[in-house]
Amino acid sequence: GDRPTEADGGEAAEVLRRVFGYDAFRGEQREIIEHVVGGGDALVLMPTGGGKSLCYQIPALVRPGVGVVVSPLIALMQDQVDALRALGVRAGFLNSTQDFEERRLVEQEFLHGELDLLYLAPERLRLESTAQLLDRGKVSLFAIDEAHCVAQWGHDFRPDYLELSTLHERWPEVPRIALTATATEATHREIASRLRLEDARHFVASFDRPNIQYRIEGKQDPKKQLLRLIRDEHPGDAGIVYCLSRASVERTAEFLVQQGVAAVPYHAGLDARTRAANQSRFLREDGVVVVATIAFGMGIDKPDVRFVAHLDLPKSMEGYYQETGRAGRDGLPATAWLAYGLQDVVQLRKIIDSSDGDEAHRRRMASHLESMLALCETVSCRRVRLLDYFGQRGEPCGNCDTCLTPPETYDGTVPAQKLLSTVVRLQRERRQKFGAGQIIDILLGKKTAKVIQFDHDTLSVFGIGTELKELEWRGVVRQLLAQGLLAVEGDYGTLVLTEASGEVLGQRREVPMRREAVRAKRASVKTG
Ligand code: ADP
Ligand code: ZN
Repeated sequence: GDRPTEADGGEAAEVLRRVFGYDAFRGEQREIIEHVVGGGDALVLMPTGGGKSLCYQIPALVRPGVGVVVSPLIALMQDQVDALRALGVRAGFLNSTQDFEERRLVEQEFLHGELDLLYLAPERLRLESTAQLLDRGKVSLFAIDEAHCVAQWGHDFRPDYLELSTLHERWPEVPRIALTATATEATHREIASRLRLEDARHFVASFDRPNIQYRIEGKQDPKKQLLRLIRDEHPGDAGIVYCLSRASVERTAEFLVQQGVAAVPYHAGLDARTRAANQSRFLREDGVVVVATIAFGMGIDKPDVRFVAHLDLPKSMEGYYQETGRAGRDGLPATAWLAYGLQDVVQLRKIIDSSDGDEAHRRRMASHLESMLALCETVSCRRVRLLDYFGQRGEPCGNCDTCLTPPETYDGTVPAQKLLSTVVRLQRERRQKFGAGQIIDILLGKKTAKVIQFDHDTLSVFGIGTELKELEWRGVVRQLLAQGLLAVEGDYGTLVLTEASGEVLGQRREVPMRREAVRAKRASVKTG
């Protein structure tokens, strides 16, 4: 027609109905799709479950030629392509799991214009043979999925993604759309510059997921705490439980099964067949709980996951946000629950200190951990903190634990000074470093074998902290860590001073704290 944009919009809406069976676009989908159909470049930031796939799938169906989708999720390509084929979309993929003959067939389909969508692993695109293949066919657009993988600042960097900056040099007339669910402002900027998308239109959706109730509690007996969450609030619901190690995945899954919960383990150490079987039980049966390392979940589309539980502290806010985002994609109430303790901080610190990366990499990881800690120890709305991290404004939500049960706060300056001066005494007078356990024993005046052995009962600070219980002292340590007033280092999680510690010791800084023991066992409002 003579008014091409409207006609394009109409065609997109028609594809939405006819192919995907949906009546209306969601959020900014229409604007994004029209922009790309019109040949424009786009950078799309949208939370998990927001509907990113249609933003490139529909333009690929509307524009002449084949839409090339770059995705790191090789393990899921087969599923994604099968799902599209079931809808009548002509889709194929090329990756390292195929043999020569399978690849040749897909290449033929591509060259003969028999595909609407071609999924490629990023390392494929680096091959000159792939570039030549694309030259010989007709590419309608490039979609770069999980675009945060190009950002070194982020938590999921993949070197292969850096090559994607050359796409527009080799194919300047082909529009590009990059999509991600995880982007702080720093990551956002880095994606734009690395992928040469500074001039693209940026679509930034709200990252708020109002139906998810965020809750974080102290870790005492994590398996029991988890069981209580499942029994009291989510019996028979589908859920995902994240653990840091394979061993704890196994232990937790076994425990849940013993307690009558339909739970399956999922981690990279299981053989491919078991993994596939467990994943498919989770997807197809009702009310299955999958206990997994973070390897699980990327690209998994199960709308009715009612809870996501973390039994260990996630390594970054981006990771936490992405993992919790797998709950409640259907828009119905869901719970994001995290249990964390001092030991988590020590363990993550150990991972950071022993990581292979350079100094800058370690600093980045440390800063990710600090943000995560700050979220855990905040006395204000969790959602406001989360959104703020992603550069978005929010109001106290009324649907997180700190909104529902505001934590009691107190002036923790004196306990902070007592604890820090104990660290100072050990460090300066005796050139010793110890972990939280020993320091708390000293404060409480406990004559343990280790206290006697190191003569710590003769320190002037011995027994000066009996006004708090051990649990409360642990809270003090966590909050000092979260506020950057104390740091943890080394294999044994020893506590050391930071530059800011001096401000507290020198009476120049007050330390507000949240009270420990009075914390509610769980938020009072149920989500069911
Ligand atoms: P993302 O990739 O952003 O995590 P998906 O593209 O997987 O999200 O979409 C999440 C879910 O929402 C999918 O089940 C998808 O089919 C559905 N969806 C997407 N767009 C719409 C729409 N306009 N109307 C209804 N459902 C939609
Ligand atoms: Zn809140």
